[in-house]
Amino acid sequence: MATGTAYRVCPLCEAVCGLELTLEAGRVVKARGDGAHVLSHGFICPKGAAFPQLVNDPDRLRLPMVRRGADWRVVSWDEAFDAVAHGLRGVVERHGREAVAVYLGNPTVHSLAYGFYISPFLKALGTRNRFSAATVDQMPKHVACGYMYGDPLAIPVPDLDRTSFVLLLGANPWESNGSLATAPDFRGRLKDVQARGGRFVVVDPRRTATAAHADRHLAIRPGTDALLLFALTHVLFAEGLVNLGRLEEHVRGVEAVRSLAQDFTPARVAAATGIAAEDIVALARELAAAKAAAVYARIGTCTVEFGTLAQWLVDVLNALTGNLDREGGAMWPLAAHMPAVPARRRGFVTGRWRTRVRGLPEVLGEMPTATLAEEIDTPGEGQIRSLFTVAGNPARSAPNSKRLERALGDLELMVSVDPYLNETTRHAHVILPPTDASRTGHYDFAFTALAVRNHAVYSRPAIAPGPDDLDDCAILSRLAAIASEQAWEYDSSEPERRLDQALRAGAYGLSVEQLLARPHGIDLGPLRPRVPEVLQTPDGRIDLCPEPIAADVARLRATLEHRNGDSLVLIGRRHLRSNNSWMHNLPMLVAGPDRCTLHVHPSDAARVGVSSGQDARVTSRVGSVVVAVEVTDAIAPGVVSLPHGWGHRGPGLRLSTATEHAGVNSNALTDELVVEPLSGNAVLNGIPVEVEPAPVDGAG
Ligand code: SF4
Repeated sequence: MATGTAYRVCPLCEAVCGLELTLEAGRVVKARGDGAHVLSHGFICPKGAAFPQLVNDPDRLRLPMVRRGADWRVVSWDEAFDAVAHGLRGVVERHGREAVAVYLGNPTVHSLAYGFYISPFLKALGTRNRFSAATVDQMPKHVACGYMYGDPLAIPVPDLDRTSFVLLLGANPWESNGSLATAPDFRGRLKDVQARGGRFVVVDPRRTATAAHADRHLAIRPGTDALLLFALTHVLFAEGLVNLGRLEEHVRGVEAVRSLAQDFTPARVAAATGIAAEDIVALARELAAAKAAAVYARIGTCTVEFGTLAQWLVDVLNALTGNLDREGGAMWPLAAHMPAVPARRRGFVTGRWRTRVRGLPEVLGEMPTATLAEEIDTPGEGQIRSLFTVAGNPARSAPNSKRLERALGDLELMVSVDPYLNETTRHAHVILPPTDASRTGHYDFAFTALAVRNHAVYSRPAIAPGPDDLDDCAILSRLAAIASEQAWEYDSSEPERRLDQALRAGAYGLSVEQLLARPHGIDLGPLRPRVPEVLQTPDGRIDLCPEPIAADVARLRATLEHRNGDSLVLIGRRHLRSNNSWMHNLPMLVAGPDRCTLHVHPSDAARVGVSSGQDARVTSRVGSVVVAVEVTDAIAPGVVSLPHGWGHRGPGLRLSTATEHAGVNSNALTDELVVEPLSGNAVLNGIPVEVEPAPVDGAG
């Protein structure tokens, strides 16, 4: 029985902090920050401390289950895989391979399986119906980087430890610990910017915890970040503040950006954004004057109707101020599994195929998750009849998730690789639960490639897996064998062998052996300039004004003429103790006051007749929810806010703690018919809603 101390990376969010696990009699009994970890230096948040509750959760499924009607039966792994093989064969025979779809959730990327087994599984299924959380929260960043740099995964991150000015839009790292920028103790790193004499400014409709600690908070109207960013660009050109520095010879399209920015004067965008023209001018000057600066924008700017334009303009501003690819600016990490020089220039295109019902373009080989429900519930050739979900809960994370839930109930075969019987997996016919994170090896492919300091960490399982434990590498490998109708050949040392090969071929020539000898990780140093080798555009230059993005500017320009009406708009919010839907079953994380409340500004509360503690009914085009109100001046007038990932209600859930803290599902209000056109990303912020006092009986 494992006893003692083990080290592993926390798999619960993008910060990938080092954990020190205390083991007793084959169980993890305590988690604290690994003080010697090369990137996190002992930092953890409450979610990391709850790691023992997560891996020991009594509601966690340990063995596969098969459903007939409402009855679940625990079965052997062989029986479960036989059920999958039989069901899949039938669906493919009746409807073809395009009738099979896959949805990959966020936690997928924290696994060794992400590096080695997802791709073969998708290839074996042979379907274009691939969906993931990327089109729920981040696809605009991939599209912007794809067009600008030729590689949608080449995402520059703020060089937080060396910068003197950070402009954050739609990001709340005080609570989220950062996203698409891996920086354990993000808040500490921002405080250090201030301690070095620098500043950080937050643009957000809410006075978030990050905004409350900022040197300046600008409360913007939801969904108008692209207007603000364009106005900042305009000021840089108008005042002669453009200076590309070292990148001058590597960039094309500067004059085209200048021309596009002409209409977006600070005075013209002020009304739409709610930010005064003089504040915009001052911000542009401060950004240009900073010794080193980084513009960083996250989910609040991605999940809106102009997400790709906003993400593009973030990088445009970094480039025009000479901060792209320079110390203290926005830089590209180089992870240990990545080659120093990408193999070939391949450029970037979208729309190689389109969704069946709405005709939306694929992006990165994926269909927009906002279209998943209609692809299931709309009859016709190519209709999805079978779905595999991997570590995802689209019944809570997809827009208009009530429609999706109804659709899931009609599938001929649904298979979920997931440890919980939740709002999504209750519709599955087979659940394949991977063993918990204390029994798996860990190397983070995704987030070492987004880290603000280059580093590498690998850990073997802290506790030896039992005879009935299968990790997601083994499960996905076997599903790939089933889908390709081949014999399953796999041994549990295979992922580590493949990791070793990837590390040896990587930029630093490391090996698994070297990483195992350094359980707190190997520090590979600060970020280094990577232009031009990081660029994969056909001509090897940064395209500052890609044609598909430029063509979308007219749509944005048209909003300059709009005037904000009286309608309230809904936005989301993050809390330190929550990460999407999957950690609400841990008592440590849901203790304390109800967090799933509707934030309403006092002036709006008075106007619509609601008050703190009272229930309000919130109604959008697609549905309504009844939720407790919290009146607060931390939210801008005209805006209301609900956190996402809640609403743990419905028959058949096995989430004993989460159902006691059910909350309401914000995606019962979001609209699947509104997507960001370039990326297919769901629009989850800026949803028009009506708020009124709930009927006394609370019926919604
Ligand atoms: S910040 Fe993220 S990675 Fe770090 S301990 Fe918390 S959940 Fe884990």
